[in-house]
This record gives sequence, structure tokens and C-alpha cells, in this order.
Amino acid sequence: MRMFSEDQKAKPQLPNRESRSKSDSYEDLYKKFHSNPELSGQESATAELIAEHLRFHEAFTIHEKIGGHGIAAVLRNGPGKTILLRADIDALPILEQTDLPYASKKTQKDKNGIIRPVMHACGHDTHIVSLLAAAGHLAITRSSWSGSLVLVFQPAEENGQGAQAMVDDGLYSRFGIPIPDIVLGQHVGPFRGGNVTICNGVMLGAADSFKITFFGRGGHGSAPDKTIDPIVMASSAVLRLQTIVSREINPKEEEAVVTVGSIQAGQAENIIPDQAVMLLNIRTIDEKTREKVLASVRRIVKAEADASGAIQPPTVEQISRFPLTRNDQVSTERLIAAFEKTFGSNFDSTFPGSSASEDFSILATAIGKPYIYWAFGGIDPDIWDDAVKNGKYIAGNHTPFFAPCIQPTLKTGTDALCTAALTFF
Ligand SMILES: [Zn+2]
Ligand SMILES: [Zn+2]
Repeated sequence: MRMFSEDQKAKPQLPNRESRSKSDSYEDLYKKFHSNPELSGQESATAELIAEHLRFHEAFTIHEKIGGHGIAAVLRNGPGKTILLRADIDALPILEQTDLPYASKKTQKDKNGIIRPVMHACGHDTHIVSLLAAAGHLAITRSSWSGSLVLVFQPAEENGQGAQAMVDDGLYSRFGIPIPDIVLGQHVGPFRGGNVTICNGVMLGAADSFKITFFGRGGHGSAPDKTIDPIVMASSAVLRLQTIVSREINPKEEEAVVTVGSIQAGQAENIIPDQAVMLLNIRTIDEKTREKVLASVRRIVKAEADASGAIQPPTVEQISRFPLTRNDQVSTERLIAAFEKTFGSNFDSTFPGSSASEDFSILATAIGKPYIYWAFGGIDPDIWDDAVKNGKYIAGNHTPFFAPCIQPTLKTGTDALCTAALTFF
């Protein structure tokens, strides 16, 4: 199998289009994406740059603005399987604090109209460029494979809405896009660049977020007996919620994380407010545990409200939901064998699973097809080796210091996508 890394500098050939005669190298393209991140749901310039680059390859039929700023591109290349490769494209409201010369200085208004710094702190820019490079490689070498290649550039992953939005907007029904036999995706992570890791099982956990509103009775701070204090109610609930993991989860067989990330109540020290609003995030790695934890949350918040004599039960409103990411067993076995050949000792299939979450699997489960998801390293190998040796901290995804090295990260992400696609064609 000829790998992308052998012709990494290859530019798409378009002799008849002078206006397209100069394309960026993938590394320059990466810097462009990194310097110009956009928040979930606002990825218009990112999507335009992706589409512009895809147009270099005339073989692709490109469909834009699916479920927001989503793009699907199709290369029909004879009979055979249909393979979908997916990259997410959104960034985060974080002020970049890396020293990179191409660090983001960008700001954007969020959905509440507040100006936020924006950073590709989850490394989705590496996903975009790896997929563009893989697309270029697979297009240029299409005489060596047969089937249909579908590329999906998915917006709004960070808020868990983009994959569902693309499906709801007719990704598989409106554009004549062939239904994939398998859906493939990847994520960059804070480990040694050049490495690829996977597991044949649960890669990522499920995540559920809730807004819980406790109702009390407001009043003067000097007359607590005339009030029902929602702050005390919510505070008791926070402590009791922590007992779900410590007292209800089987330490050998189950895993769960329960985090109260926000409590909002009251405006002044001498007024007891009438409401407290709590934001809660729950991570689990199997459906049974998920149901159990969610039931416990509902039981506890209701019981704490009862214990306080609340005049009405709390409301529990789900604000986001990420499904489990569980790799398809049979196809993953095939991919593990292929990755072993491509990456040798830089590959392992012992990924322990992560409590992070993704909406990627929706692109497959929506059509009842298998999917595989893996991770590739983004940390400069020398920096990684030094950190391991000397116990130094390495900044990970979602931090202001997350700084994937350009290579071998892009080469690895590209090789992994090409290897996976060619395994299943
Ligand atoms: Zn993220
Ligand atoms: Zn991410």
C-alpha cells in the first residue's frame, strides 16, 4: 500500500484552471485553519476554505451548508463499498496561550452576543487538514481502488449538535449521497506524535448535561423562617449528588463521573432568592450505568427539594446528550491488522477508553451502519519523551496551551484515514 507520506507534498493537478494553479501546502493550510478558528455553529469561513480546497479535486461532488456549515463531498469511483470519512471543524471559546507563530488572536460573538476568544483547542484543525490531505491522496491514486468515498466535514461537535443536525438536514436523503457501509473518524490527543491508538470496544463515554432549577420562596435575609432557601436546597443536592459515584457505582464493574459545573442563585447578601439553577454533567461508559446514574440524579434532586419543603419539585431539563462511542467489533479487528502494518510499533490497540465524548457515532447509528473511531498523537515526540522521562506536564485538549506539532501529526492523521479507507474499499 502506498502511503500518503510518500507524496505528502503532491499538489492536486488541475492544468485547465489557471485561477487554481496555486494551492497551499497542507502545512500552510493547517496554519491558516489554526489562526482562524470559529465557534460551534459559526464555522462559515472554515467551511468555505474547506470547500475551496476540495474544488481542486474535480472528482468530488461537493454539497455545502448541511445542518449549518456542514459539508459532504462524494467521489464515485466504480463499483464497491462506500466509505465515509469524517472530520469535525469547530473550535472553542478559549484564549490561546501557546507561543506558536500562527496562534489564534481571533474573537467571535457567541450565541448570547458576548465576544469570546476562539481557539482550535481541541485540535479539530488537525482533523480537517488530515481529511483534506487523505482526500487528495485518495483522489490522485483512485486508479488503485474502487468504490465510493464520502467525506463529511461536520460542524458543531463541541456542543453535540452537529452530527444530528446534518442527519436531520437530509445528509443521507436529500443529496443522493450513497449510504456508507462504514463510518470512520478520528481525534488528535495529547500523546506522542506519530502514534495511533484504538480499542475494540468502548472508545468514548456517553455525556449528558442537565439544567436543574430548584424552586424556593424568596424573602428577607433576616427572616429565614418565612422563606424556603433554594441555595441551601441546591447546596445539599450538590453534596448528595457526589454520593452517586462514591456509594452507588460498583467500583469493579461501572464507571461514572458526576460534575456540577455551575450554580447560579441570588443577587445580594441579605435577600433569600426564590430559585437556584444548577448545571450538571454526567459521563458514563455503558447504557445500564447511564440509566442508573440519571435515575439517581432525578431521585436525589427531588428528594432534596422535598426535604427542604419546596413548594414545587425541581425541573430537570436535558441540555445536551452525547452517545457512547463503541467500535464495531468485526470491522475493528480488520482495521487493527491494517494499522499494525502501517504504523508498526507506533500503533497499539490497548486504548483504555476515555470519559470524553463525541457525537460522531450518530452519523452511523442514524443509518444502522457500523463505525470505527481511533485517536492519533499530537505531541512533538522529543517533547513527549522528555516529559515522560522527567515527569513534566503536557497540556491537553481544551486547554489554552494545547499545541499539536504540525508533523508528524498531520502525516499520521492522514495515513490513518487512508489506511482505514483502503482497508474497507
Ligand atoms: Zn473538544
Ligand atoms: Zn474534539
